[in-house]
Amino acid sequence: MMERTLVPLLEPVLDDNARRYVNECLDQGYVSSAGPFVAEFESEFAKAVGIRNAVACASGTAALHVALRVAGARPGVLVALPTFTFIASANAATYTGADLLLVDSEPGSWNVNADLLHDEVVRRARRGGRIPDIVEVVHVLGHPADIAPLLDLRERFGVKIVEDAAEALGASWTTGEVAGSQVGTVGDAGCFSFNGNKVITTGGGGMIVTAEDSFAAQAKHLTTQAKALPDQYVHDDVGYNYRMTNVAAALGLAQLQALPAFLQRKREIAKKYNELCVELSVVQTPNAYWAKPSFWLYSLLVRNSAVDVGRLVEGMRTARITTRRLWPPLHRQKPYAAVERLGGEVAEGIFRRGISLPSSVNLMGGEQVRVVDSLRRLMDGEDGCG
Ligand SMILES: *Cc1c(COP(=O)(O)O)cnc(C)c1O
Repeated sequence: MMERTLVPLLEPVLDDNARRYVNECLDQGYVSSAGPFVAEFESEFAKAVGIRNAVACASGTAALHVALRVAGARPGVLVALPTFTFIASANAATYTGADLLLVDSEPGSWNVNADLLHDEVVRRARRGGRIPDIVEVVHVLGHPADIAPLLDLRERFGVKIVEDAAEALGASWTTGEVAGSQVGTVGDAGCFSFNGNKVITTGGGGMIVTAEDSFAAQAKHLTTQAKALPDQYVHDDVGYNYRMTNVAAALGLAQLQALPAFLQRKREIAKKYNELCVELSVVQTPNAYWAKPSFWLYSLLVRNSAVDVGRLVEGMRTARITTRRLWPPLHRQKPYAAVERLGGEVAEGIFRRGISLPSSVNLMGGEQVRVVDSLRRLMDGEDGCG
């Protein structure tokens, strides 16, 4: 394979199995909701993450929406989530009519500051204040969040936990009572995304996983229009058309079979970036020391305050390398500017200083060298970016 002139940020890698399974759908005429691939993808996915149930959905956002609803989200319910996340985490909760509580990040892993949230909930409970009914914990950029303080909230106050594991398929915890568990499997439900840029893709799609059979049954019911009597158009709830198609599931099954190789590549890419970036004196990468990350999208903070990250991204583009800034915190986004929050300064710092580097599993060693060489040159100011 040749090094590419334009290095992409993240692009899907499809193999012969993907072609074969999709062709099977075409040959058999099962391109929509009928056909064997959805059930097979669900059961293989459940097996791969180590849980009893998986419910396929049309997107990761749809998966979160339904999982939050089954967990009890509705008007009058309070959902706590990190302010530093992709906006879909918040949108899914908002669709249910619930109120949001945005929580700052902790500087090490960039995930929700679980201690900050924990202590605030304990304080509020003591004085009879309103506490979150649900915590939507996000494992950002493939790094598992610190879950122990949240499990304590569940135990003491009955707080439900919905994991947004959209970016973290294959990541797992290595310490504490959850050691050995994959992300998505310790909450009441976990949600994944198969958007084109995620660890595996179905073109577009998502998955809800849960240990509880009744949770899975309710989720399936809601994703398929809440049919009480399927052949008679009798419905017992306001459901959604959130099902996954057979073609998407066929792609998903092939991608799932490639997952171990993809994860290995993601981890190799991260290791090489870490080695190359040692020479850059002022960068910092997220560190969830309690976990084994999936390194979905390799990102770092530029600690040299003389470097403008927006200009850095522009400079990299000129060098034919696609990089990207991280998310502006939700409390800086128009729909969520007025929402209640705990802190937010750490999240703002991560946004201000953060940049994501090309992380496709087909990224080549020479391309990684080029990426870091360009970064170094731009950060040194040779190209007017200092
Ligand atoms: C991608 C993503 C989603 C949404 O997934 P879609 O499949 O794009 O709907 C939700 N949360 C996070 C953190 C994501 O990165």
